[in-house]
Amino acid sequence: MTQRIYSFGGGSADGASTMKDLLGGKGANLAEMSSLGLPVPPGFTLTTAVCMEYLDGLATRKGSFYESRGAGAGNGIMSGVTMGGGAAPAQAGLPEGLMDEVREALSKVESIVGKRFGDAGSPLLVSVRSGARASMPGMMDTILNLGLNDTTVQGLAAASGNPRFAWDSYRRFVTMYANVAMGLDRGQLDAIVRAEMKARGVEEEVELSADDWAAIVPQLKARVEELKRRPFPEDPVEQLEGAIRAVFASWNTPRARFYRREHGFPDDWGTACNVQAMVFGNLGDDSATGVCFTRDPKNGGNVFFGEFLVNAQGEDVVAGIRTPQPLNREGGDAETTLPTLQEVMPAAYDELVAVYKKLEAHYRDMQDIEFTIEGGRLWILQTRTGKRTGQAAVRIAVDMVEEGLIDAVTALRRVEPAQVGQLLHPTIDPDAPRNVIARGLPASPGAATGVVVFDSAGAVKRVADGEKVILVREETSPEDIEGMAAAVGILTARGGQTSHAAVVARGMGVCCVAGCKDITVHERDRLFVTRGPESITVRDGDLVTLDGSTGEVLLGSVAVSTPELAESGLDELLAWADQHARLGVRANADTPDDAALARGFGAVGIGLCRTEHMFFEGDRIAAVRQMILADDEQDRTRALERIYPMQRADFLGIFRAMDGLPVTIRLLDPPLHEFLPHEDAEIVELAKVSGMPASRVRAQVENLREANPMMGHRGCRLGLTHPSIYTMQVRAILDAALDAKAEGLDVRPEIMIPLVGVETELKILRGLVTRTAEKVFSTRGARVDFTTGTMIELPRACLTADRIAEHADFFSFGTNDLTQTTFGYSRDDAGFLKLYTSGLGVLERDPFVSLDTDGVGQLVAMGTERGRSTKGDLKVGICGEHGGDPRSIAFVHGAGLDYVSCSPYRVPVARLAAARAALESQG
Ligand code: PEP
Ligand code: MG
Repeated sequence: MTQRIYSFGGGSADGASTMKDLLGGKGANLAEMSSLGLPVPPGFTLTTAVCMEYLDGLATRKGSFYESRGAGAGNGIMSGVTMGGGAAPAQAGLPEGLMDEVREALSKVESIVGKRFGDAGSPLLVSVRSGARASMPGMMDTILNLGLNDTTVQGLAAASGNPRFAWDSYRRFVTMYANVAMGLDRGQLDAIVRAEMKARGVEEEVELSADDWAAIVPQLKARVEELKRRPFPEDPVEQLEGAIRAVFASWNTPRARFYRREHGFPDDWGTACNVQAMVFGNLGDDSATGVCFTRDPKNGGNVFFGEFLVNAQGEDVVAGIRTPQPLNREGGDAETTLPTLQEVMPAAYDELVAVYKKLEAHYRDMQDIEFTIEGGRLWILQTRTGKRTGQAAVRIAVDMVEEGLIDAVTALRRVEPAQVGQLLHPTIDPDAPRNVIARGLPASPGAATGVVVFDSAGAVKRVADGEKVILVREETSPEDIEGMAAAVGILTARGGQTSHAAVVARGMGVCCVAGCKDITVHERDRLFVTRGPESITVRDGDLVTLDGSTGEVLLGSVAVSTPELAESGLDELLAWADQHARLGVRANADTPDDAALARGFGAVGIGLCRTEHMFFEGDRIAAVRQMILADDEQDRTRALERIYPMQRADFLGIFRAMDGLPVTIRLLDPPLHEFLPHEDAEIVELAKVSGMPASRVRAQVENLREANPMMGHRGCRLGLTHPSIYTMQVRAILDAALDAKAEGLDVRPEIMIPLVGVETELKILRGLVTRTAEKVFSTRGARVDFTTGTMIELPRACLTADRIAEHADFFSFGTNDLTQTTFGYSRDDAGFLKLYTSGLGVLERDPFVSLDTDGVGQLVAMGTERGRSTKGDLKVGICGEHGGDPRSIAFVHGAGLDYVSCSPYRVPVARLAAARAALESQG
């Protein structure tokens, strides 16, 4: 029979860290740590396979696979397990014989710990926790202190010599269990506690005594029974069974499903369930609990960093209810005056240092470790790969290569391209005026301006309406995940660097200021107030700016600038990337400045220079309009002659910036009417400048109006009907190239014809290019090498690529238009795609962002193959927005393209993505 339960503890384990698929990340690491001889409380892991067996069993009983596997309606664990409304769901059983195996595993724990589960004298208590193969922080459920009942609580009180602790643990357990395993709203029980506090005239829970709690707990249990119509379970084994069921079912809570969708985790992974002996950080002043990172998760610095609370349980640290203390002076908040762990418990601190070093060296990656100190004795509860900002990811990967811990390939595999993107995030311009109204913890770097919103749903809604929002909460919880993902910044009044808000924001690359004690949040009134004599009230919809790197909250919007990349490690990482990548990375750049920026980011050429952008500049538009309105070819030529020197100067600037690198210049593409005036005043003005009657201008504008300009008179169609435009552009390109060559530069122009669908279009226009070039060369008495190619952005072009290739030296896939024309979705009117990709689930992702590999991707692959069937060495690239999207880059690597081209800021992202695609394809 397949093994369903894996034990760990006492210096050995059934499992290992390689078994994450079966044991989940947490279970696998607990096993590994036990085998390493680290002080891990003993326990056992029920496998992810058992979870899926249980969930599938539930679905069969309910007759719906759909509901159990994750797409189901309703509120997750409550749907069909504990709140199903009928008798059956509450009793929906675990797989047959499983509880017998659980009891057996439990007895091993009992013998290691020397306590018995349910024992009236000195009871063993356990925690029951979820743990999927990849970390999903806070997304699923946990129950602590399980095994307490009216009898064992007395035993715990006697054994610990601390009745208050015992009763406090009991009330925590009752609340947690009722909520997680019985589906009761926590607020129902919290209200009882609040009423009791009021009756006793106390403000803080810590002021309640053992006797107080002993009086409150029966009330909590009575309330549970009243609301759930069944008693709170007294039998520890029954409690354990309910907790295991709840943890398995929490795989399907709405927030877990949302998280999976966001991260692309499949629904059929399931979660493991870890049952582990409890150790207590809340036994007194020689007990504590905390979280630490082996390196700084914000900037990647090689310092031991973390926080702890004396006399507390883990949930207190994560919930951010009390202000945590730093572990040491080096890794903590420089300004804090709170005593450190190193100062208050030096022996445990030293032991923790030895453990963290051992764990980091063992896993060869930055670890996020949870620990508890019980009566001065250190226990390690969990280790996992620590989440980190993009800045930290790069720094840590590069440092670890230099330290000899990992090799360059591992470093490349470890840094996500999106993390490189985060590194390029804007920061507040240091010279911009700052109206700082509050300061909190700098929890996740980056800067953002947005309107203030006080709840997750409101944030999602405003973002859907096109606004940028800053989510402000007293503190965040996993329920806020959607709003956090939608927001550009997160501000919380409570919670430390390891609070939910801080950890999640960092993982998402969203800037975050946490634990901002300078503000009081009134969520219900949708406002926050700053403290101090000049208190400011900020309301829902007001603009604020967050600086996640300094912790400052600023009123209004503030100018931002790009971060300093020197010393970030990015250059080293990308140099390794270039050694492995097969795809070249070029940039889409239309100006000398953009070209220089792209080159600085490592672009190996320009893959798309959109010349229409140059036409809109300054007074050029007037000349262009005259060119379009010209009565005859002579007038048109005259207008073009005014534009020609400007274009020539533009191209020369770009060639200078790209000395030695190829520059693909696309001839004019947009629809003609885009250049025409629409307002009456503009028409009158143009009539004046061009010397034409206004009525004629008006008529011409009307004449050029198109119902669907994206499908209209643009691209090569324009070049064919108005050849003088392309002729002028080719002259400007080649004259500029000759100028550059005369300056001693190595110039490599590539002339690109857009929107070709029929080979004859390209044949005719290539002829125009060649003739014009010859004229330029003979006039100048000099030549320059250049190539002529085409964009492939229509399905017909892909289908007939073999014939089109006869007239092309290169292809560049314009996947923006190719997506538009393949799907028949207008790229300017695709607002409905939001629903398609979320609520309706028609598409997994927006095809204008990430290449639709099933459809559009097939056309790209076919176009490449057919083009190369005519010309084996045909150079092929992609210059649509997809050229900077890592997923699309992986696809075009596989399709055998030669290069991608993307906006300058995405060049570093694409370089890493190209290397990872190459490494991935090598396995
Ligand atoms: C494209 O269509 O993918 C492309 C790069 O051209 P544009 O976006 O300018 O139409
Ligand atoms: Mg296009």
